[in-house]
Amino acid sequence: MIDTEIQNQLHTALKTYFGYDSFRGQQQDIIENVLQKKDTLVIMPTGGGKSICFQIPAVVLEGLTLVISPLIALMKDQVDGLNANGIKAAFYNSSQSAEEQQNIIEQAITKEIKLLYVAPESLSGLENLVNEKYISCVAIDEAHCISSWGHDFRPSYQQLGFLKKQLPNTPIIALTATADKATRQDIIEQLEIPHADQFVASFDRKNIELEVRPADARAKQIINFIKKHPGQSGIVYCLSRKNTEQIAKKLNDNGINTDCYHAGLSFEDRTRVQEDFIFDKTQVVCATVAFGMGIDKSNVRWVIHHNMPKNIEGYYQEIGRSGRDGLKAKALLFHSYADVIQLRKFASGASNEEVQIAKLERMKQFSEATTCRRKILLSYFGELLADNCGNCDVCKNPPKFFDGTVIAQKILSTITRVHQQEAIGTLIDVLRGANNANILDKGLNRIKTFGIGNDISWKDWQHYIIQLINQGICEIAFHKNNALQLTEFSNKVLFKGLKVYLTHPVHITEQVKTTVAS
Ligand code: ADP
Ligand code: ZN
Repeated sequence: MIDTEIQNQLHTALKTYFGYDSFRGQQQDIIENVLQKKDTLVIMPTGGGKSICFQIPAVVLEGLTLVISPLIALMKDQVDGLNANGIKAAFYNSSQSAEEQQNIIEQAITKEIKLLYVAPESLSGLENLVNEKYISCVAIDEAHCISSWGHDFRPSYQQLGFLKKQLPNTPIIALTATADKATRQDIIEQLEIPHADQFVASFDRKNIELEVRPADARAKQIINFIKKHPGQSGIVYCLSRKNTEQIAKKLNDNGINTDCYHAGLSFEDRTRVQEDFIFDKTQVVCATVAFGMGIDKSNVRWVIHHNMPKNIEGYYQEIGRSGRDGLKAKALLFHSYADVIQLRKFASGASNEEVQIAKLERMKQFSEATTCRRKILLSYFGELLADNCGNCDVCKNPPKFFDGTVIAQKILSTITRVHQQEAIGTLIDVLRGANNANILDKGLNRIKTFGIGNDISWKDWQHYIIQLINQGICEIAFHKNNALQLTEFSNKVLFKGLKVYLTHPVHITEQVKTTVAS
């Protein structure tokens, strides 16, 4: 426990330097923990107020607080901000001359500055300073960068374990906005702070309604959605630059004031698009994931994912750009198997391929969920919701299951008869008895189950097959041209009386007239 005198001192510092009357959420507990010299891990969403958690200790503590930060580009702004508030701070990185660097080290040693921001690559230049004679606290910002399990891995972060060895009695505070349980564990291990107290703020953004739809006629659905929300600002996230341009064109053709944004645009264009969006001159931006970082717009009412994001961290961050004002907002994700296959291709060959694929798998499970989506989303961040949220599509419209054993058997026996060599599209063509060139070339029109399923539409077959995949009753062999394969459950369904329960496909029937062909 911290005595009241120190508590008063903390509040005075908060008011004097930052102009705030009270701490937010767990800030005070976190600060007190650090002041008791305990290692601390803070998981708090972006905008939650992480900086104050090490800046207030920095002004209260006697010596220097070393802040490890990955983004040289942002250091100057952060330091200028602190100095403007009357807190002596400086940064140390490779953009400075040797003379400037020497100057800063001297200021640190003579205790003229309270905070020193340093890039991990530049730490080696501070050998003499990393000593308990001078340093009272170490803050590690964007701590997820240490973990190859994280989404923004930086090798230079991996040497930070030496800090605890060199400064065994100095508290380390590690902070991040995105960390699943595995990343969190990794941070603690690599920083060698096994006894760190963890402060995990809630990630729940209750005001954002979650919805996932199958990706049929996406452009049409997006136009309908926007027309149902006239005048509301929103972002459509797309996988590729080309996508952003195509969708933006379709929206403009339908009278929706839309810009597009991606890394291929000039700096001037990007700035203009951002500003027009912020000042409500454009209603919609079709963008790649490059859009949104550092954009402070509180009245974004919806975010649509035209394509599936590659992991849940990305999804969460992107939908989090809506409803910052706390008012109702919507997040709509289109789920397509083609996207999953595409994202798997991107991941293959990456240095952390396994990690990326595991994360993609979690994203896929979220998209295909038949239970409360918010529960799944929050559990990814280690947070358990006691009750279903009531504000996601599954809660609002719980799926109704029917006995789909016969449908499953038709699918599985067709997979058997095509020798587990064919992907979803061809398999459905066989089921529906399509006489196209591909089928005829391969002689698939001669197999026994050809045409046994022409009473079910193509899209509906796809919906059923995907459910079988999700239930592990068949699987996609990504390394064999995405051929559908049998699993240990397939036989049980075909021959041992195992029943299969499926949901009916959702047929989106929206009545707004659009000018899109597909
Ligand atoms: P993070 O680093 O978690 O993304 P910041 O530290 O940048 O968040 O804080 C986000 C915003 O919230 C900043 O404008 C900050 O000044 C403000 N803020 C932080 N703590 C408080 C508080 N106790 N009261 C009011 N505003 C706060
Ligand atoms: Zn729910």
